[in-house]
Amino acid sequence: MSIPTVFVVKNDNCFEFFCYFCRSLHQHGAIEGHRLSHCTNQKSPYRDRGYMLRLPPQNQSGETVYYLRLGNRIKIGWTRNLSAKMKAIPHEQLLALEPGGLSVEAQRHQQFEEFKIVGEWFRSCPVIMRHVASLEWEPAK
Ligand SMILES: [Zn+2]
Repeated sequence: MSIPTVFVVKNDNCFEFFCYFCRSLHQHGAIEGHRLSHCTNQKSPYRDRGYMLRLPPQNQSGETVYYLRLGNRIKIGWTRNLSAKMKAIPHEQLLALEPGGLSVEAQRHQQFEEFKIVGEWFRSCPVIMRHVASLEWEPAK
């Protein structure tokens, strides 16, 4: 069985990420790689195999395009501070990340325009989910 990947942000000398299963922030030492889970939720799938910590893919300016799911909606946006965004935007799951800033975001918004609901929110659909799946990150189920 493969080990799930989670994206972290560096905060002082720690890596941290928001765990969807524990609904809390998990902190680790600032080195990428395999770790034992800090999960307190007995049902967390991370408890058996741990997880691979990875820094998010970024462009040279430190910018990342993110795909967030809330119900059957997906928000596509970009940020230089993923941690702050994850805390600020209500969502159920971080689906994927892609290196890039405003121009990549604009490109995706245009590419998926027919599924747009309002602002940066899009209707979940096979076209967007195929793109998300192509971004080489297996999200937690
Ligand atoms: Zn957890």
